[in-house]
Amino acid sequence: MSLKLESNAIRAELARIQFRTQAFIDGRFSPAAGGKTYAVPNPANGRPLAEVAACERADVDRAVAAARRAFESGVWSRMNPADRKKILLKFAARIEAHAGEIALLDALSAGKPIVDCVTIDLPDTVHCLAWHAELIDKLYERTAPTGPNNPALIVREPIGVVGVIVPWNFPVQMTAWKIGPALAAGNSVVLKPAKQTPFSAIRLAELAAEAGIPDGVFNVVPGLGGVVGQAICRHGDVDMAAFTGSTAVGRELLRYSAESNLKRVILELGGKSPQVVLADAPDLDGVAAHVVNAAFWNMGENCSSGSRLIVHRRLKEPLVERLIGIVKDWKTGDPVDPETRMGPMIESSHGEKVMGYIATGSKEGAVLAHGGRRLLPESGGFYVETTIFDEVKNSMTIAREEIFGPVLAVIPVESDEEAVAVANDTPYGLAASLYSKDVGRAHRVARALRAGTVSVNCYSEGDVTTPFGGFKESGFFGRDKSVYAHEQYSELKTIWLQL
Ligand code: NAD
Repeated sequence: MSLKLESNAIRAELARIQFRTQAFIDGRFSPAAGGKTYAVPNPANGRPLAEVAACERADVDRAVAAARRAFESGVWSRMNPADRKKILLKFAARIEAHAGEIALLDALSAGKPIVDCVTIDLPDTVHCLAWHAELIDKLYERTAPTGPNNPALIVREPIGVVGVIVPWNFPVQMTAWKIGPALAAGNSVVLKPAKQTPFSAIRLAELAAEAGIPDGVFNVVPGLGGVVGQAICRHGDVDMAAFTGSTAVGRELLRYSAESNLKRVILELGGKSPQVVLADAPDLDGVAAHVVNAAFWNMGENCSSGSRLIVHRRLKEPLVERLIGIVKDWKTGDPVDPETRMGPMIESSHGEKVMGYIATGSKEGAVLAHGGRRLLPESGGFYVETTIFDEVKNSMTIAREEIFGPVLAVIPVESDEEAVAVANDTPYGLAASLYSKDVGRAHRVARALRAGTVSVNCYSEGDVTTPFGGFKESGFFGRDKSVYAHEQYSELKTIWLQL
């Protein structure tokens, strides 16, 4: 059930909350083989939420073996598509029935505002799983035009055991974007959640079992990235690794694949996304609302955060004024308060890193137009004020590196051509927004921007029907969401017949 965004309802749900803390392997909970645990803190106050199984390689081996057994048995991989659909839809319905609880698990461990978890992450998660479930019995396979004597079937088959590794910023949603299409295509999954946010993933595995997903098909192994994540990605019996996280770790995964069994690797990585405001942009109030959302939603801990505002110099001042007007009303505080728009940074080391970028911005000559301070230090959490730097040059550190915090760099330009050149002058290419009244002009610029998703006159990641992923160093090979994601979790096979 969805959670009422009202303090009493949230308090009641908090009183009921339970943290599942063990791995989920072969249909049952299990402690780490080595018996070790680690503490998961609440980023809002630094206090521990629970001790979670610190799994290691032996646990990964066990999960992969269970996943392989389930795959080879055909209990899921060769199940009648209509039956697989029914079970996955039931799984989505079970998540919907526990949406409030799962939203709180993510809000507590990731420091995400509960309002976002309830209104965005959970509905998107349920919809994503149901959408991929529905697709199962609607995709047709093909025959090749090979003539009457040699009919050739082109079929898709599940890849096998898929390792899924996700980050902490959208814990349940990123999980759904991967396991939705992976399970729908008939694969078995071994999932490693981020060490900071294991709870919703473990709960999902339990709900999957209740919905009828057979033992061994969906396993969750919590632990450290360099231990559990690496063991999954180096495993010789894992056929594919689907990863969302930083570009640096993404590079490692390609190495692991090359040094092990050449498993398929798809990477959804970081970004430094431009928001381009052309000289004829319509309705500056509306533009400002989108720009603020793009830059500061989820505290800027968002891969597609619009962290560079590339604006025609003529519009810069009135726009920045409006941005400051809006962010002043964004409440910073405890993520489980329904009024909160800005929660804490995921951990204090990350908060220090963001503050370091703010210091570098000032040192390199950008003009601090708003924010720049650490807030609520007495809370025990690391809160950073929404921060806007003006007169930024695209060569400055704050315009080049992914900060993953609430820091917006405003870069003035003089023409559409300069705007496009600056927007594309980055190693990343995940997303972009652009604002213009003129459809032709907007279309020309949209085609010129090197990014996986370009939004015109809005900030959007599309929805489950549209592919999401990056150009350049923002991604490798694959896409999340849409029929394209569905297909990438399968192998193409040709069956050539001599009649
Ligand atoms: P991260 O790369 O540090 O960690 C991501 C996951 O990888 C975690 O589960 C982590 O435990 C695991 N990991 C860490 N080291 C590993 C290793 N050596 N081998 C295998 N797995 C390992 O990223 P993060 O800090 O959790 O998330 C932030 C990053 O994720 C940002 O760069 C952000 O842009 C990116 N991100 C991208 C998207 C997208 O769709 N493109 C979405 C969300 C986040």
